[in-house]
Amino acid sequence: MNHSEQKKTGRNPRLELLRLLMDSGPLEQPEAARLLGITKAGCNLHFQRLIAEKYLEPVPSAPPSGRGRPAMKWHPASNNLFCGVLLNRTGIALEAVDFRGERCFTATERFSGGGDAAEVCRKLDDVVAEASEKGIVRCIFVGIPGGIDANGTVTSSPNFPAVNNFNAEAHLRKKFAVRAYSDTMALAIERSETCRFAREEVTLLLDWSEGIGIRFLLGDAPFMLGVPDAGRYRGLWDYGHTRAVPGGRRCHCGKRGCLEAYIGGVPLLEQHPELGCATVEDFAGKIAANDPAAEHVFIEAVELLAQQIRHDIELFGVRNLVLFGGMRPAFPVFASHLTRGLGRFFEPEELASLRILPGGTVPPEHGAALVARDCFFTPSRILRHRGLGQEVIPPEQCVNREDFTIFK
Ligand SMILES: [Zn+2]
Repeated sequence: MNHSEQKKTGRNPRLELLRLLMDSGPLEQPEAARLLGITKAGCNLHFQRLIAEKYLEPVPSAPPSGRGRPAMKWHPASNNLFCGVLLNRTGIALEAVDFRGERCFTATERFSGGGDAAEVCRKLDDVVAEASEKGIVRCIFVGIPGGIDANGTVTSSPNFPAVNNFNAEAHLRKKFAVRAYSDTMALAIERSETCRFAREEVTLLLDWSEGIGIRFLLGDAPFMLGVPDAGRYRGLWDYGHTRAVPGGRRCHCGKRGCLEAYIGGVPLLEQHPELGCATVEDFAGKIAANDPAAEHVFIEAVELLAQQIRHDIELFGVRNLVLFGGMRPAFPVFASHLTRGLGRFFEPEELASLRILPGGTVPPEHGAALVARDCFFTPSRILRHRGLGQEVIPPEQCVNREDFTIFK
């Protein structure tokens, strides 16, 4: 395939070859050529380049079983690293995985007294430099707490203002000459929460803390709407602000009767001052300790939630429902009462195929590292969706811009 042909079809056989070897395990060259539908000679060239650039290594071969030279099988080299970095006001966490998604390396740095911009930069450099000593860093994803614009600059991080106006990816690209991307931490959380599920399964991620957030994902990919003017977030992120009670309580978003206005952690505490809980964590702790008053309030909230999400569970074919966030300690009460609430709408056998699970079992930096690996193959995915609610790069401008030119 010549260059103009590649441009026309948007294919990059070398990247596809690497992906194939990652997904399908070790392959011999002729088999890879057949699977990619390219000539053996062409495939051989891609192999040579990938080997020269240290992307591939031979699999230790079995003793020859017949006549002739044993055919060599190849797979992605294990010292290729993808780094996930999470920045928050207490410090930095880094994890590196290889092509197989296996954890290779972790590092943490703590900030002294909240961290200023210079310290963030210095410690970010330190953890990335440490990872670079362990292997060839191919791509980095930096998850930040807060909003980010389409260029990767942090626009607002209320809990960690030191990173405002910081562009982590531009910094890392310049300093380490490495592909780097950043976006909100939510991507890393989504990826870590769904990496234990099969790709074809639909997961409902319930982030229940001060507010309430719900996301639906197919495998690790959030459901997004391909409609340019579908609203603020172009996805299903606004779930907490769908109406649960017509004409009901005023929500902080300005509408009345939002689900969040009733069962978001803070609205729940506002409605129930008698519980004497100062924070959502207090509330979750009381439920976990079986405080009857707190439990009663929570059970009612879970029932309203069951009513609200039942259509979506049916419509999207949700297989996994994961609770994380500040209410996570209340999981046992949550699981039993959500099952009961949904039981009013579903047959027992339907309900049996829905898994209700606690989140937080896989660290988010692992998810961030997997996002880095995803970005290596399909950077357009992140470029297209980040800066949501602000300026969004039209898909036609980023598809093919970098996707297929990952090799310098
Ligand atoms: Zn609202």
